[in-house]
Amino acid sequence: MGALSYLDYNATAPVRPAAARAVARMLEVGGNPSSIHGVGRAARAVLEDAREVVAAQTGGRAQDVIFTSGATEALHRALDAAEGAFGDLLVSSIEHDALWDCGGVRRVIACDPDGRISLDSLEDQLAGAARPLVAVMLANNETGVIQPIQKIAPRVREAGGLLLVDAVQALGRIRVDLQALDASYLVVSSHKVGGPPGAGALVLSPGAPFSISRRGGGQEQGRRPGTENVPMIAGFAAALQENTGSEAGRVEGLRRAFEEGLRARFRGVVVFGAEAQRLPNTCLFAVPGLPAEAALIALDLRGVAMSSGAACSSGKVKSSRVLAAMGVEPSLARCALRASFGWASRDEDVVCALDALGSLRANGLVGAV
Ligand code: PLP
Repeated sequence: MGALSYLDYNATAPVRPAAARAVARMLEVGGNPSSIHGVGRAARAVLEDAREVVAAQTGGRAQDVIFTSGATEALHRALDAAEGAFGDLLVSSIEHDALWDCGGVRRVIACDPDGRISLDSLEDQLAGAARPLVAVMLANNETGVIQPIQKIAPRVREAGGLLLVDAVQALGRIRVDLQALDASYLVVSSHKVGGPPGAGALVLSPGAPFSISRRGGGQEQGRRPGTENVPMIAGFAAALQENTGSEAGRVEGLRRAFEEGLRARFRGVVVFGAEAQRLPNTCLFAVPGLPAEAALIALDLRGVAMSSGAACSSGKVKSSRVLAAMGVEPSLARCALRASFGWASRDEDVVCALDALGSLRANGLVGAV
């Protein structure tokens, strides 16, 4: 990563050295895991070891892990897999665009002002739904707010529905356990945990409905045809193995120091979801009068990489659907900046980011609108 202070782990975490080594090794070894010969068998062994690692870190069984190109594909594959087994699709208002934008008729579950999915709204929507498939996230990518899945799951089960959990931002940061979550489908992604982009997984609970919509080469037990991307999958597993869980405390310390620094420097600063349980690494905040788009450019010039609240796939900052769902005033939402920390973050990154933000005020950027 070229930036001096990279605080954008929720977009993509820097690749861990062990992951980069695993990718390079597999690119050198080569081979197709479906081949009978020794090179193929070696690739197969790496693939199956990686499957065990993903299963162990998500509470699933290895045979229920389906490797994909990333979380977006895994989410779509889950929707396809459940085809025929559900009637109504229920989606929370704070889901990632990867799911939100995939079309189709759905009922929307609202969230509260702290960014937690509303159980009242869930119950309202479940009441009128037939064989529902409920898609919710374990932790939100913008606010980091951890969702009450342990309260959502029993309600979905009682309604005879299926639960799809997007655990992309939770993996490696808090415990992720398919069984404890009581989900039928769970989705994770490599590039958020320090693995390379280009790998992800859909993890099924035993017996989860799986309708095969398209056939191909029969890979992944026919559930995801196409040659597996073994180098990236190997990197994904290596990243997960290096993540021992001991990082969370240190990372949370950095986030807390950052938030204390913000409060000390900027009167009126708002930290979104501050009253809710949040991921240890995520801080979505707004300094009223400091527009995010101008701030991001100015921070970048000072060597600090952050994000606005919403992801910007086209390089443009969109207004945040999540903050709108939380009832945040558009004028404040336009000021939302996200700092997200991770395995390589250092104390200096916090100092550097706070100094850079402070210098924006000194340069008159705060209050520019
Ligand atoms: N779900 C969440 C919560 C995310 O944050 C992201 C990526 O930003 C995705 C899904 C999509 O992941 P991928 O880039 O692996 O397709």
